[in-house]
Amino acid sequence: MDILKERIMQDGKCYPGGILKVDSFINHQMDPNLMMDCAKEFVRLFSDLHFNKIVTIEASGIAPAILVGYILQLPVVFIKKKQPKTMDNMLSTVVHSFTKDRDYTVCISNSFLTEDDHVIFIDDFLANGNAANGVIELCALAGAKIEAMGFIIEKAFQHGGDFLRSKGIKYEALATVESLDNCQILLK
Ligand code: 5GP
Repeated sequence: MDILKERIMQDGKCYPGGILKVDSFINHQMDPNLMMDCAKEFVRLFSDLHFNKIVTIEASGIAPAILVGYILQLPVVFIKKKQPKTMDNMLSTVVHSFTKDRDYTVCISNSFLTEDDHVIFIDDFLANGNAANGVIELCALAGAKIEAMGFIIEKAFQHGGDFLRSKGIKYEALATVESLDNCQILLK
């Protein structure tokens, strides 16, 4: 997606440890027009698939996910990073956070993710695939089927893509970062 790639080159910033900061248009301040363009592209890429629900994980996946859900008029459910005291039928698993370098328990209600669901998972980044693995585990617990995953940005120098291919999960990324070496952004 050229408009996304141009924005990453213009406003993205490299941080040590292979982190790309895009908080002026995705992760903190958000550009709604760019988010809508991303959502339309996901809809186009997944147009040959049959699914009934969009799943994401808080917080940065919610914006693109809800726009995909809005375009397709499908429900959007987000995996929570804090366990609410009041959640019924809770399914949970542990995910390692790449940016925070710690494990945390994520959860989703079995009322909103069931064996009847065919889901598309949407998130901002694919790095090592830890969040994606958490989604795979939650969907397995629920008996839901993952039809595909969509990421705004994949960092190809990490191993999330290999992990998803090894699991046979179809995924799309709207922009792929080949390298952040020497604090230079190299896009595919
Ligand atoms: P993974 O679970 O694939 O290892 O990492 C993906 C998650 O970590 C995303 O949900 C995203 O929030 C965060 N993340 C991973 N790498 C980056 C990065 O370079 N920049 C930002 N802003 N977030 C990242």
